[in-house]
Amino acid sequence: MPDLILRLALPSPLRRLFDYLAPADVPPSVLQPGARLRVPFGRREIVGVLVEVTQQSDVPPDKLKPALELLDSEPPLPPALLKLCLWTAQYYQHSLGDTLSWALPTLLRQGEPAEVRQERIWLPVEGARIDDPRLSRAPRQREALKAVLQHPQGVRHSLLSTLQLNRDSLELLLEKNLLRTETRRRAPRVHNGGWLAQPELPLNAEQRAAYEAIRAGFGSFQASLLAGVTGSGKTEVYLQLIRETLEAGKQALVLIPEINLGPQTLARFEQRFNARIALLHSNVNDRERLDAWLAARDGEADIVIGTRSALFTPLKNPGLIIIDEEHDASYKQQEGLRYHARDLALVRAHQENLPIVLGSATPSLESLHNAEAGRYGLLKLTQRAGGAQAPRFLRLDIKSLPLDSGISGPLQQAMRQTLEAGQQVLVFLNRRGFAPTLLCHDCGWLSQCPRCDARMTLHQRHNELRCHHCGHVERPPRNCPSCNHVDLRPVGAGTERAEERLSILFPDYPVLRIDRDSTSRKGAIEELLSTINRGEPCVLVGTQMLAKGHHFPRVTLVAILDADGGLFSADFRAPERMAQLIVQVAGRAGRAEEAGKVIIQTHLAEHPLLVQLTEQGYFAFAEQALSERRAAGLPPFSHLALLRAEAHKPGQAEDFLDQAYLQAEQLMDELGLQGIELLGPVPAPMERRAGRYRAQLLIQGSARVPLHRLLHAWLPYVETLPGSRSVRWSLDIDPIDL
Ligand code: ADP
Ligand code: ZN
Ligand code: ZN
Repeated sequence: MPDLILRLALPSPLRRLFDYLAPADVPPSVLQPGARLRVPFGRREIVGVLVEVTQQSDVPPDKLKPALELLDSEPPLPPALLKLCLWTAQYYQHSLGDTLSWALPTLLRQGEPAEVRQERIWLPVEGARIDDPRLSRAPRQREALKAVLQHPQGVRHSLLSTLQLNRDSLELLLEKNLLRTETRRRAPRVHNGGWLAQPELPLNAEQRAAYEAIRAGFGSFQASLLAGVTGSGKTEVYLQLIRETLEAGKQALVLIPEINLGPQTLARFEQRFNARIALLHSNVNDRERLDAWLAARDGEADIVIGTRSALFTPLKNPGLIIIDEEHDASYKQQEGLRYHARDLALVRAHQENLPIVLGSATPSLESLHNAEAGRYGLLKLTQRAGGAQAPRFLRLDIKSLPLDSGISGPLQQAMRQTLEAGQQVLVFLNRRGFAPTLLCHDCGWLSQCPRCDARMTLHQRHNELRCHHCGHVERPPRNCPSCNHVDLRPVGAGTERAEERLSILFPDYPVLRIDRDSTSRKGAIEELLSTINRGEPCVLVGTQMLAKGHHFPRVTLVAILDADGGLFSADFRAPERMAQLIVQVAGRAGRAEEAGKVIIQTHLAEHPLLVQLTEQGYFAFAEQALSERRAAGLPPFSHLALLRAEAHKPGQAEDFLDQAYLQAEQLMDELGLQGIELLGPVPAPMERRAGRYRAQLLIQGSARVPLHRLLHAWLPYVETLPGSRSVRWSLDIDPIDL
């Protein structure tokens, strides 16, 4: 019989599989796709995933090496997930091995057994009592026993320090036969009656209609866009759909944007359900991630909540997928495998025949377009649940108004009134630091980053100039590096400066800054939130961190200091992002009894998109923006791919892209592909970044199929272009920033 050839996906950027011989002593029957093997690779040993077993190889037999070890008797990767990864690699034109590396928990990639850690559980023996005479002179042991007795399910070893239990005391109790231990794979299901730990809210008419419509599609693929204004009770609809899913014996997968998975969100799920919740986000460690992943796979987690990459969590009995805030940019991965978790979730729902709900107060234009085209059911929630009122918008024309650290006179007045009425004000400014640049008033020198085509931001508190693009840090010069004069002035305002100025303008009220810098310390955000939630009048100033997830019931005035960036930008998605941000920030206001007010400072007070947004609302804006996109042939009315390249020497990246361009043109001819345009190459919007010169080539197709045929045929050429060795390049399918 000929030797069996194993075709493996290896963690390598090369878009091909690698052939090996089966390890010596392994019977063919256990070699199933999805199993991991340890193999020699160059001088290293690495872990690969078996994709197929064949009997032929293009590699000469004497060059084939045997795999060293089979790591799994059962493939850790269920077929459905392997299928999703295959689709992902194909669609994003990415190496399957590297795709699997992004999809799998780190420990599995490293060859760790695909088994849940055995955990030691401490339990009292029958009849153990704290007045046991043997403990009369051992107060610490008595305390420890008392603590354990309060946990009828036993105390997990990993919780000892959390519960402040002393390990030595427990060991002594074990010797005295008052405690015993057990090793358990996982905490057993806690079930005291139904799935609900808390009664559900009676749904209002709109919520009920949405809920019924989605529920009617349970059991098969159906995509629904739940477009509900902030506070309209989308989460309540999700929760009731999840309950429905659990009752059917199935699991729910909930994806949340990176910034939203705070304790608040989690608490809502935990309070509602008697269910095992697996968490997968950037703060869980590798071991916890693997345990959560395995629990989901084995059907021992009922609800899986996580950020982008949780999309790749296998589910034994999947019943429902929810994508909260589906418009959020954090669903798109911007490095390596540049996938969009929302788009892949739709593919997954389709492959596994599941209902999927995309929720947002400000749906992406793509999703709205899909809903209009009848591909998604569109369910609108227009009223705030619990009777809160929608905010009113005011465009404040600042063309001829003097600004004081970005704040106009009329805005100051409105803020004062609000504070004096005992309410809170939120000031939104999407720029961190003190000032976006430092300027020499004598010669015009600017604090340019030495490595980027960008200015360094002044961070006064740390007395630093920082580049927000490459991380370069310098001390601000005392004298102008160019003319040696001392008249260096910060220009423009970031959150630090706004905070400083607002503290002077409103000395009687606390001014709280919320941005990445002020919340980087653990627990800082919780402290800020608890101050805000006390409800006393104050000013919150911050970046888009303020726009997401948090509820500020006492905020009745929202000020947007500068909305113009979104209207001026060269990126065609900028207005959409601006509108989403404004609506999301506005959604923080007027949640309780009072309607909130939103003041938008702008130089373009009559811009049609801004007028549409503030007078007719987000959907009217979206209509208008979509018709502009249609007229310009931009997504979602066409499809894009972006080939990016960067190099140390100027011109190299563009040379490489020129070569790639010629190849693409030739292929389009050969394959007879129509409706594809090659735009570029052009320098990237910020040409130099972190010391590299960057350029890009945009490929636009009126239909997806020919575009992807071209990309598929093109990439093998691109990989071998003479220039490809001196540049760093990547292909971004459906890029979201151009
Ligand atoms: P969203 O997710 O759309 O922002 P939430 O689900 O967070 O909205 O709901 C906003 C507020 O309204 C919450 O305090 C929630 O408890 C409350 N709420 C939601 N649905 C109802 C309902 N049917 N009846 C009363 N209050 C509700
Ligand atoms: Zn100067
Ligand atoms: Zn820089």
